[in-house]
Amino acid sequence: MTGSSRTQLILQALEEASSQNPDLSTFYTFHRALFRTLAQARTEISGALEIADKEARQARLLQGQPLLPFAALPVEAERFAELVLDVARILSEYDPELAQQALPDGPAECLALARQRFEEGQAGGERDEPQSEATLAQASVGLALKPYLEWAAEQVLPYVDQERWKRGYCPVCGGAPDFATLDAEVGARHLVCSRCSSEWLYRRLGCPFCSTTDHAKLMYYPSEDGVYRLYVCQVCRRYLKTVDLREITRSVLLPVERITTVAMDLAARQEEFGKVQCSDSDSGSRWSVIS
Ligand SMILES: [Zn+2]
Ligand SMILES: [Zn+2]
Repeated sequence: MTGSSRTQLILQALEEASSQNPDLSTFYTFHRALFRTLAQARTEISGALEIADKEARQARLLQGQPLLPFAALPVEAERFAELVLDVARILSEYDPELAQQALPDGPAECLALARQRFEEGQAGGERDEPQSEATLAQASVGLALKPYLEWAAEQVLPYVDQERWKRGYCPVCGGAPDFATLDAEVGARHLVCSRCSSEWLYRRLGCPFCSTTDHAKLMYYPSEDGVYRLYVCQVCRRYLKTVDLREITRSVLLPVERITTVAMDLAARQEEFGKVQCSDSDSGSRWSVIS
């Protein structure tokens, strides 16, 4: 599938989800605008990615270090700053209160903030608190970085030995997961990176955020049709939305699933479980199947 036909499929699926949930139309309008802008930015990325040689890659992975340093991304400062402004406009249209907030002053500041966000967001297995709510500048820069990270991740992920990594954070960029899948054959669990969308194998039981395997502290709420599960951890108060691909016959587009499962985010936050990264804002109705 070419990039542009996948983009079209995703936009179409978001459109359908919107028409099925008219009370969420503002939410879906926001996500369509954001997705379109980021997808366009991705088509404009030029340059090559420098990937470390085999020995250096293996050494990094063995030490639990992700493969992609910020400096490897071909971020062109002027274009990046324009994208940050576009994203900030989309965020402010969705949440007018954000419009009052300051934005980075020029390309150099955008780039510096992007590097900072990239490094702060590296889970590394050591973070114990969810990040605080992002400012407009932080959120815009974080989202504007996404097309670059996804572009790089597609090239880097094939170099990851899935059987050997199995950590709670992304082997490519070090980000935390914001979604998971149980695969169609044996139900193996893959985590999905909140930043670069890489998917990596993780153990079936256990919290990827705090690593606890205490059964008494981990639970999940299944949806009525058994397709979705909301995993929550009582130790670190984080949650993970999951789709069980054994229970689903239609084709699944993960970028769409992450958005259309908004009701699970709301249900989790109502119970005061935290989101891993506050990169955008959500609104919508209650996840009705969780009671
Ligand atoms: Zn990642
Ligand atoms: Zn936990």
